[in-house]
Amino acid sequence: MAELQLDNITKTFDDGGDEIVAVDDVSIDIQDGEFLVLVGPSGCGKSTTLRTIAGLETITDGAIRLGGEVINDKRPQDRDTAMVFQSYALYPHMTVRENMSFGLEESTDLPDDEIRERVTDTAEMMGIAELLDRKPGELSGGQQQRVALGRAIVRNPAAFLMDEPLANLDAKLRAQMRTELQRLQENLDVTTVYVTHDQTEAMTMGDRIAILDDGELQQVGTPLECYHEPSNLFVAGFIGEPSMNTFEAHTDGDRLVAERFEYALSERHEDAIDGDNVVFGIRPEDVEVGSDPDDSHTYEVVVDVVEPKGDENYVHMAFDADRENPETFTATIGGLRRVEAGDTVVVRFPPEAVHLFDGDTGEAVLNRSLDTVEDVEPLL
Ligand code: ATP
Repeated sequence: MAELQLDNITKTFDDGGDEIVAVDDVSIDIQDGEFLVLVGPSGCGKSTTLRTIAGLETITDGAIRLGGEVINDKRPQDRDTAMVFQSYALYPHMTVRENMSFGLEESTDLPDDEIRERVTDTAEMMGIAELLDRKPGELSGGQQQRVALGRAIVRNPAAFLMDEPLANLDAKLRAQMRTELQRLQENLDVTTVYVTHDQTEAMTMGDRIAILDDGELQQVGTPLECYHEPSNLFVAGFIGEPSMNTFEAHTDGDRLVAERFEYALSERHEDAIDGDNVVFGIRPEDVEVGSDPDDSHTYEVVVDVVEPKGDENYVHMAFDADRENPETFTATIGGLRRVEAGDTVVVRFPPEAVHLFDGDTGEAVLNRSLDTVEDVEPLL
């Protein structure tokens, strides 16, 4: 157990004379026992960041501290971290017991009977005790994943480093392993850095999430902070499914003028806006569908496509369906509410739910009022 600090770490690769900045001056303090999820789109640098912590890549600049000690120049086996890979990386010719014992035999002086006991205890905890004499080829993907996790746990490291460990499992098993891993991490209380491109995993598993784009850290915060208080347009678009609706607009007195609609600004909005170019954002679940047309901030729109999800419907709508390229946005409504493509409906963008971003920099200038989150009534 230990605190893990990334201090201004940078990692560049030389690609035939071109410099690729995979990780760009990233600083994160990960608390002792914390579950931190590194998330971002493909190529954003999350695996490279994790590999630098493991010692599989050397950093170009900065410092990595584990338990207060700089570990930049330590060999991977001397770092007191245990990595779990997406591919499981089990040795095919070894039994499960041998796979789980191997690291301990190589990197510690523990006597054989203690190693045996640790492996047996961990295998029991992971529900794989009956598989100890099998080889990886005789196991399902989910069982292999348990072995890979067990192999990391048995090492009793200061930090777990996990690189998309659930990505190869089917959706149902992934959801099950998600909760199991969370429970396990909580019980073991070991500092964990978990890499995923899946924002659902990030939202549901992390104590905090760190969002990367193009090697740069965009935001570190609890899942709900990142969801309700995104620091910029990138985070707003990345966290949340379906994504936040965003519209480019400019100010005109006390109104925002977007291409297909105008919005009367409240004092709170006006106070936050600094500059003419603004991006107006609203989450799909905050769009009120079936509003009274006499209410403020309402618009008559046409339903374009309905995606039923069972528990809810994603309703894609257009401001003006007759135009060649209608500007669409999405609302989520309860699964028992019915609307159909072609229906004309009235929607409302409630002022307290609006996010505003600087149109030039993409930085958030105002997030939805969190005081009102509790007050947002479900549609059904
Ligand atoms: P993915 O989700 O696709 O695995 P990622 O966020 O983990 O992506 P990285 O694998 O960390 O991204 O890669 C970050 C950037 O660094 C990419 O542009 C990648 O092409 C580049 N990169 C990674 N490893 C190397 C390498 N050994 N040599 C050159 N470039 C590399």
